[in-house]
Formats: sequence, structure tokens, C-alpha cells
Amino acid sequence: MALTDTHCHLYFNSFSDDLQAVLERARGVGVERFLVPAVDLETSRAALRLAQTEPDVFAAVGVHPNDAAAWQDAWLEALRPLAQAPKVVAIGEIGLDYYRDYTPPDIQRRAFERQLDLAADLRLPVVIHSRNARGSAQAIDDILDLLQDFLARWESVSPEMRGRWGVLHSFSGSAAQAQRAIEMGFSIGITGPVTFKNAPDLQALVRTLPLERLLIETDAPFLSPHPLRGKRNEPERVRLIAKKIAELKGLLPETVAETTTRNAARLFQWSVLD
Ligand SMILES: [Zn+2]
Repeated sequence: MALTDTHCHLYFNSFSDDLQAVLERARGVGVERFLVPAVDLETSRAALRLAQTEPDVFAAVGVHPNDAAAWQDAWLEALRPLAQAPKVVAIGEIGLDYYRDYTPPDIQRRAFERQLDLAADLRLPVVIHSRNARGSAQAIDDILDLLQDFLARWESVSPEMRGRWGVLHSFSGSAAQAQRAIEMGFSIGITGPVTFKNAPDLQALVRTLPLERLLIETDAPFLSPHPLRGKRNEPERVRLIAKKIAELKGLLPETVAETTTRNAARLFQWSVLD
């Protein structure tokens, strides 16, 4: 099976003792490429270092909304050269998180908008973190509204990127929100919760979404899929997500693996870097 893990935080301490073994286990089940998104400046550098050492690892650089409390526009000037390095294929993860209150919403929005500008400048896709407050749809609605305004400008600067602006990673929104994102030209990232017994809404959503618009991701070390829920997650388990999507859609796991691997290659364009 040709698999891709489009979202794994391999620089976290939880991997410092056995990263090579983690990578080997994943390669052993067919994971061909790993995308490591950053959450702040320090992890942007760490993700890039890892991409420079491992041929099949690629990086995204950016500041996560939960790490943006001290945001300064000057950080863009630190991000820019990192984003221009070879093997950096996206800006991320960036976005809005109204579930946690680590960063006031107005600062989250500013950091998100400035980093969208950077992505447009550098013609890079974006990896978007979106998390609603409990019982609300607000963060994802706000993100989609911002992206819609933004795309009007982005399309005139980079028409060649139409349909590959980025991914709404670990999507947890409604079917209507997913539909809106897809119509705007975004992909939808599916993580371990799709395998959970208490996720009927997400499972129903995955059944209806076109496979050509899905990416699969572990979000390791978080969100370990069933039956390993609660354990440290690792990229090898992306195969469990492929298997579950296949079951939900009545397809072969190989079809899900190969199609989502092709979707990722198209979005992040790594073949031109090989
Ligand atoms: Zn993440």
C-alpha cells in the first residue's frame, strides 16, 4: 500500500527516544511520505531540520492559533526564509481555535490573516487548524468566511493554485461546512477519530465526501485511532484510518491509500522536489 501521513508532529519530545524506529515502522507498512507541520517558530525550525535529514519527510512552517498569544508581525520575517527552504511545502498549521482560550480570538485572527498573506506571497498551500468551541460552529464558519475573502485576492495572484489552496486538517465540522470548503478548492483531512465508536457524524460525513478531496493524517502523537485510542499515536497508524475510510465507503483499503497519496502529492507537489 502506498500511504502518506500528511500531518505528524515528529519533533515533539514523545518521539525523542525512538524517532528512527517510528519512521521505520511507518515505512514498513508503506508510508512513502510524511508532512510535519510546525506550531511555532522553534518547531518550524525543528520540522525543517527533520526534512533536511530524512528524504521522505517534508515540512510546513507556521504558528498555531494556540501558540499565537505573543504574536508579532515581525515573526513573519523569521518564517519567510524558513518557508522558502527546499522541502517546505506549506504554511501551517495556522487557523482558529475557539475550543481553547490560550490566545484571544482577535490575535488568532491577525496571526491567521498575516500567515495567509505569507502563503499567497510564496505561493504555498496552507494547513489549517480549525476547532469550534463546544456546541458552536463559529471557528470553522469564521475560517471559511476569512478564506472566501482571501481567495478572491489569492486567485488573481496565483491562478495556477486553484483547487489546491490547502487542507482543513483533522476536520470536525458539519457536512455543509465541508461542502463549502471543497467548493472553494480545499481538501479535508481525516484523522483517528473517524475510527472511534462515538463518531457517527464524522463517519456519515466521510461516506458522502469525494475521495479525491480527502487526505489522511495521524496528527501524531495525538488522536491515536481505535483500538489504540489514548496511546501515543505514530504515522504507522495512518493505515488504520485508510482501512476505516475504505470500510465506510465500500472500497478497498489500497484504493483509499493510493488515492489519498495521489491527492497529497497533488496538493503539496513533492514530486517536483524529488
Ligand atoms: Zn497538528
